[in-house]
Amino acid sequence: MSIGAYILSEYIPAKPLVGNLELCFTGEEHTQIDASAQLRCGEVLKFPFARTDSKPRSVVIKGSKVLVGADKETETKRVVELTLESSFGYQPGDTIGVVPSNNSEIVERLLHRLQLSEQADTTCHLKLSLNCAKKTAKLPAHIPSATSPREILTHCLSLNFVPQKQLLSALSGFTSNEQERGFLACLSSKQATEHYNSLILEKGLVFMEILDLCENCRPPLCFLAEHLPRLLPRPYSIANSPLETGGQELRIIYSLLNHKPGVTTRMLEELVKQINTQQPANVVIYPRLNNAFRYTEQDLGSNQILIAVGTGLAPFLGFLAHKEKLISQQPQREKGHSWLYIGAKTPEAILKRDQLKAWQKSTVLERLRMCHSRGDSPGYVQEMMAEDSEDLVKFLLKHDTVIYVCADGAKISQSIANGLCLCLQKVLHLTEEEASRQLMELKAHGKYREDVWL
Ligand SMILES: Cc1cc2nc3c(=O)[nH]c(=O)nc-3n(C[C@H](O)[C@H](O)[C@H](O)COP(=O)(O)OP(=O)(O)OC[C@H]3O[C@@H](n4cnc5c(N)ncnc54)[C@H](O)[C@@H]3O)c2cc1C
Repeated sequence: MSIGAYILSEYIPAKPLVGNLELCFTGEEHTQIDASAQLRCGEVLKFPFARTDSKPRSVVIKGSKVLVGADKETETKRVVELTLESSFGYQPGDTIGVVPSNNSEIVERLLHRLQLSEQADTTCHLKLSLNCAKKTAKLPAHIPSATSPREILTHCLSLNFVPQKQLLSALSGFTSNEQERGFLACLSSKQATEHYNSLILEKGLVFMEILDLCENCRPPLCFLAEHLPRLLPRPYSIANSPLETGGQELRIIYSLLNHKPGVTTRMLEELVKQINTQQPANVVIYPRLNNAFRYTEQDLGSNQILIAVGTGLAPFLGFLAHKEKLISQQPQREKGHSWLYIGAKTPEAILKRDQLKAWQKSTVLERLRMCHSRGDSPGYVQEMMAEDSEDLVKFLLKHDTVIYVCADGAKISQSIANGLCLCLQKVLHLTEEEASRQLMELKAHGKYREDVWL
């Protein structure tokens, strides 16, 4: 890509962000190595949606299993299940936060760019600069008071974010190359909004890719520490029942993009490689606050309609395993019915297909409907729902039936909601408006619960 093509003849750059921090080195080697430096930031640093009864901590990855292999032809993503050590109580449907770290090669490259390779592991701290004019300037809570450049870039700062115009404008001041300066300054201007939209918003160029395009741009680390967003934890659903593992372990399932994998999933892949070569591997996790999207002992007597696409099946594997265990522990208890609608690109991409069939045989699952978008009709879960609309609506309207929807994308969740509206319209002879109102009511009464993985 030629950055020269994106420079207009006339433009007014956005007001640049200014730096208010300084980085001070002590000269000593930084020897403290943590699974995440964010663990040393103390109580001031909050972890999103963290439960108060347990702190984030580094746990051992006890095992990994490839559930689905990547396939370029069908664009099927690789899916891996991890078994992690656990020290907190949980129920199926609960989620954990996984604290990621940036890829070591990317960090090494950035350290080299910032001319910090030699000081990468030297102890340093941030402080407000003496001439700081901004009254509200403060030290970032997500960077520990004693750290190192490598640690800041590995554990504290997000490098893959959408750069704002004021940041681009500031970056233009950190390059000695005229074309790069013009490109960054112009991209930040109102006049080049079309370029900003096509490159940044549509093409999805993130901060590191902008730096790759401008190889002479060397922003100081103290500026990045102040203005780059925090590297935030990502949520993952627990994919098992605590009754399977005695609560000492938990499992999560992640999918990996074939092209440009994300930060956390790439980190998890590196850790899997590590355990496959018999080296110990740890990851920092914490339990997140739970909500109504869960299946507990109390639910054994009620009915569920479970609808999932792709890796969205993960929490339901926990629901059904829990139900199976509860049935074997309490055979005298009345049990409800569970239906599962699951969609994936191909039959092979349906997670734990044999287990699902075994659950169907053993009556844990009363109805199992599977579809494949790269196969014969019906290709999508909403088509299967339409085929079953009479039974589905009748079952849903029973007072103790709850519908749970989990999909790895907002669009899919919306299509499923629309699909259910069509079923309500057809079976109950409602108008489109009445059906959407009924869906809203189902949501308000906790009969329609969804987990949207944005
Ligand atoms: C409540 C909740 C529960 C979740 N549970 C799970 C779970 O059990 N398993 C799971 O795999 N994910 C789950 N997610 C999504 C997960 O939190 C991450 O967003 C996902 O794994 C990508 O993280 P990343 O850091 O690798 O990608 P990022 O670096 O954050 O992603 C960069 C971009 O790539 C996209 N992206 C990256 N990886 C994928 C992928 N595999 N598929 C589609 N788009 C992708 C992101 O959407 C983003 O636009 C859940 C999300 C929520 C909100």
